[in-house]
Amino acid sequence: MGWDFSTEPEFEKKLEWMRAFVREEVYPLEVLDTDEVGFMRAIRPLQAEVKKQKLWATHLPPELGGQGYGQVKLGLMHEIEGATVWAPIIFGNQAPDSGNSEVLAHFGSEDQKKRWLRPLLDGQIRSAFSMTEPNTAGSDPTLLSTTAVLDGDVWVINGHKWFTSNGMIADFLIAMVVTEPQADAYERASMIIVPGDAPGLKKLRNIPTMAGEHERFGYGHSEIVYEDVRVPKDNLIGERGQGFLIAQARLGPGRIHHCMRWLGQARRAFDMLCERSLQREAFGKKLAGHETVQNWIADSAAEMQAARLMTLHAAWVIDTQGAAAARKEISMIKFFGAKVLHDVIDRAIQIHGSLGYSSDLPLEEMYRHARAARMYDGPDEVHRVSVARQVLAGYQPPKGIWPREHVPTRKAAAQRKFAALLEAATTDA
Ligand SMILES: Cc1cc2nc3c(=O)[nH]c(=O)nc-3n(C[C@H](O)[C@H](O)[C@H](O)COP(=O)(O)OP(=O)(O)OC[C@H]3O[C@@H](n4cnc5c(N)ncnc54)[C@H](O)[C@@H]3O)c2cc1C
Repeated sequence: MGWDFSTEPEFEKKLEWMRAFVREEVYPLEVLDTDEVGFMRAIRPLQAEVKKQKLWATHLPPELGGQGYGQVKLGLMHEIEGATVWAPIIFGNQAPDSGNSEVLAHFGSEDQKKRWLRPLLDGQIRSAFSMTEPNTAGSDPTLLSTTAVLDGDVWVINGHKWFTSNGMIADFLIAMVVTEPQADAYERASMIIVPGDAPGLKKLRNIPTMAGEHERFGYGHSEIVYEDVRVPKDNLIGERGQGFLIAQARLGPGRIHHCMRWLGQARRAFDMLCERSLQREAFGKKLAGHETVQNWIADSAAEMQAARLMTLHAAWVIDTQGAAAARKEISMIKFFGAKVLHDVIDRAIQIHGSLGYSSDLPLEEMYRHARAARMYDGPDEVHRVSVARQVLAGYQPPKGIWPREHVPTRKAAAQRKFAALLEAATTDA
């Protein structure tokens, strides 16, 4: 089967525009000293410019206001956006809003689209995805314990969630809750829209994390108690018990979008690594002249190239065969890409010495963010298990007690196979 990740020259022009725009207009936002009001004032004209360029919310199909570009093109765009934490919000596809908008676009009712999706896409409101719980293992979501029980025309929700990103500032949350306790493990849960100001929704705190997002304008990962939260029956997304099915549709492309953004982060750290190696001298030569540093550069370049090709390949499988067909590819790049990201930033910190460890460079912040990549949207270990299972499904145990490649067994078989010819050769001689 041939692979083709190529894109047309017109699209390359858009990417060129994005590279310059992100570097010149978005990077400065990272170091701008302002409050949220000032920040929002600063980003509005940039968002307007992105809309003018028809690059806003490109993850969605045209009828929903996106460009319907598909995952390969999206990958190339996210690679540019991922270099800085603020670019996704300027391009209208920041997590978790982008994933939530996909859920509503594909599974929401017309009313839900009108009330929640449209304003979300216009950047007027914000959302959160509330699945993980402190008291059950998030890596095995079949253990979810938050419940929603129907009382007439109203769902009554009770439970405890945490790491609900942007939960404190969200205008609505999509809560993953158990509605069918008697059903099979993967048919017990449903997704329900919960308005951010619903009575009984107790937003306890933003959990302080390594990345320190809780300090930034209320963005962060919140702990939330649902105490007899009552929402209309119609807030159910899709059908009862479809929670896992919808989550799969949301998390598949969502995971690959993270991997695409990591390419941009890794690239930025790599650029810093290379530049510093040419700038700083130690022991009579530039750092770039030391073999260990050359190894870092070569290893990083090779690993980044591998991650890029794996990401684009997974994106291409989604585009050509659908998200379900790309399960193995998505899991492979999720754990591989997270390690590449971490290792490249780590080497970039190392080459800068104490400067790299300091907040005078963005590397230490990038490093703290990168650590979470090995956990969110499923920890490394779970993705490895998934890849191994899918790989092993293509294998059978060899018959008998020896491996298929056992040399003495093969030798005996080869002797038998060629016995007549070998005998003739002896006779001829
Ligand atoms: C920055 C960040 C943002 C997040 N945003 C959201 C969000 O918006 N909404 C939301 O609902 N959740 C969110 N999460 C939660 C995230 O999805 C969970 O942390 C993740 O699914 C793991 O669940 P857990 O933390 O409960 O770990 P646990 O399930 O307790 O697992 C702990 C560890 O056990 C190990 N482990 C688990 N399974 C296996 C296995 N099969 N084999 C070997 N080892 C295993 C892994 O090392 C794993 O890290 C976020 C997390 C982070 C860090």
